[in-house]
Amino acid sequence: MNIPNAPIARKSLAEIIAGKLAASILDGLLSSGTQLASERDLVKEFGVSRSTLREALKILLDSKLIESRISVGWFVCQITSTNLARARELASWARAEDPTPTKPAGQEPPTGPRRLPVNPEKPLQIPNLKTDRSGTFQLISWWEKEKVEKARVMVVGAGALGNEVVKNLALMGVGHILIVDFDTVEMANLSRSVLFRESDSSRNKSEVAAARAKEINPNVHVQYLHADISNQVGLGIFRRMDVIIGCLDNREARLAVNRFAYWVNKPWVDGAIQELYGLVRVFVPGQGACFECSLTEQARRDLAVRYSCPLLARENVLLGKVPTTPTIASIIGAMQAQETLKLIHGMPVEPGKVTHFNGLTNVMHTTAYTAREDCESHWNYGEITELPISAGTTSLSEFARVVKSDLGPETLIELDQELILSLTCPQCGSHEDIVRPMSQVGFKAAHCPTCGILREIEMTHTITGDEPFAHLSLLATGIPPLHVIRAFNASEYRFYELTGDLKDTLHFRHFDRQDNHQLATPLRETIRLHAVSAADEPPSNPAHGRVTLWKD
Ligand SMILES: [Zn+2]
Ligand SMILES: [Zn+2]
Repeated sequence: MNIPNAPIARKSLAEIIAGKLAASILDGLLSSGTQLASERDLVKEFGVSRSTLREALKILLDSKLIESRISVGWFVCQITSTNLARARELASWARAEDPTPTKPAGQEPPTGPRRLPVNPEKPLQIPNLKTDRSGTFQLISWWEKEKVEKARVMVVGAGALGNEVVKNLALMGVGHILIVDFDTVEMANLSRSVLFRESDSSRNKSEVAAARAKEINPNVHVQYLHADISNQVGLGIFRRMDVIIGCLDNREARLAVNRFAYWVNKPWVDGAIQELYGLVRVFVPGQGACFECSLTEQARRDLAVRYSCPLLARENVLLGKVPTTPTIASIIGAMQAQETLKLIHGMPVEPGKVTHFNGLTNVMHTTAYTAREDCESHWNYGEITELPISAGTTSLSEFARVVKSDLGPETLIELDQELILSLTCPQCGSHEDIVRPMSQVGFKAAHCPTCGILREIEMTHTITGDEPFAHLSLLATGIPPLHVIRAFNASEYRFYELTGDLKDTLHFRHFDRQDNHQLATPLRETIRLHAVSAADEPPSNPAHGRVTLWKD
């Protein structure tokens, strides 16, 4: 195959130097008003003669990218609509001569500040700074308005970190923000939560945060879910996100987010804070270590103990509150939002690594985790069959019939969480049939009401569809709307989404003007079966459009 060589116009050394400086100006490494290094230093830095350097400076001067202040030196001009196109042109000269190959992330530690790619293809738009709130963003060389507006980001946790992250996402105009939290606002939250007010006391954190995000930027579409991320958020929500941001304060919830993100192949950005210390890490399935890989042996043992007595796990989680300052939340939350912005743009990130920030010494350092071959999180669902059925209106037996028509009569349905079937008191022998998901049975409720001791629990996580309780809805057995359910026979697993829940479960329409839904009114869900929303778009998944199996 003959590929014709594209003609390359050779640039002079002076033009390349001018291009390098223009790229630094565009990337913000040399910000407006900064004085350039002395001619002597620049000559040394670029290894060129003084006359070549002066020629380069002349190009920048003529391009209105630098200005001279008599007997002081050269200063960087502000990038405006008049010099932006020229700056990009110059920067492209430097790139053509000196391509900086983008190394695949997660292989070598970076040796210095990495220059962001300048995109000379970006169409020049002249923003109206009086009317366009995102106008100045468009002057950023790599900013792609459309990508930012189209992006769907889920923020898990609306505490100190979540507040900062949501604030930043709204300011930057990230188009679709879903906020998940199961907690309510307390007075103690007000000292570290920019989105909460005294009048929000005892309201749902997720709802208040979503309302304030919409207030900050009415152009963004928001949705809140007052739900526990471990078992009340359908996997179909995860698979329709571009990035998931963990603003959590416990290991169990992080592990849940990590597994869900891996199952549907989505990147997630974790943040953690304690007093003046914080860390940020990006996890991308298939690229380096994941959160579970990062756990120490001891942490893994602790988790295993908790999982062996799952009733205890949830209650213990709530005890582990850590003290933090609003300042460290701002620092770490800002880094999380920024990593998210990079992921949205497809810019290089460093998955499987952790960046620690020590606020006592102001030392920041990044280290890589070791990926574990046997890590339990490294599963990917692959193809998912979308079924036009809903969790609330489909029974276990109906669902079993559907999957058996696909996988055969020996098919079993595998639940994510244990289903408690009965409780028996070892002392008085009293027996209670309950059939409820583990997460809905508290530690106290598991005790015998007469003897006060912990009862023996009969539970299951596999369903045939022939059980005496198989008339119960999927929802009643702990499967959330829009979830993806696993089923398997002797030879394979397959995955089925409750896509009938999509319209009501993921809509990004809360606090839309036409909803007339103000924070002051009681919480009310609006069902719009015929409304067109962004959530109607099919996800980019090959399974979409596959012939469905629903036969009656
Ligand atoms: Zn892992
Ligand atoms: Zn008893």
